[in-house]
Amino acid sequence: MPEALVIVDFQNDFTPGGALGVPEGDEITDRVNELAADDRFDVVVATRDWHPPDHRSFTEQGGIWPVHCVQETPGAELFPGLDQSHVDVIVDKGQPRDTEGYSGFQATTLEGVLRERRIDRITVVGLATDYCVKNTVLDARRLGFDVDVDSSAIRAVEVQPGDGDRAIDEMRAAGAHVS
Ligand SMILES: [Zn+2]
Repeated sequence: MPEALVIVDFQNDFTPGGALGVPEGDEITDRVNELAADDRFDVVVATRDWHPPDHRSFTEQGGIWPVHCVQETPGAELFPGLDQSHVDVIVDKGQPRDTEGYSGFQATTLEGVLRERRIDRITVVGLATDYCVKNTVLDARRLGFDVDVDSSAIRAVEVQPGDGDRAIDEMRAAGAHVS
């Protein structure tokens, strides 16, 4: 059964010190690299939040987030701790100005990348649990993929305390297996 690893938004701006740093976001590095090197995955995909400078999610455009992951800026680059030698495909997300862009499947090539390789099971890791990981997982379930989430390789933003745990409950309720 072909399997894929999907590493969500493991980028400079989402790690501590970044424009939208996720607490302990860098602590997933070893586990993510371990999974990326695992032979059971037929393909390893890394998504990047990849926004135009006027993306509507930014506070100055009426959104709720500081400017982050602007296309072609250092903050949008994949976190240097990620061993990119195991990454087969990079999928950019959040490009259309007026889409929310939390899910790796929204307005991206991700579904096609998985379907053309006949992937039916994916493991999702990355940042952040309560936004882009959650929305990617929920979309994957809607699209019929079996989904595993490695809880040691995700971290939450927690705009509200408890958001991370609530996101895990939602993913489980949608049928994802959270280890
Ligand atoms: Zn974003």
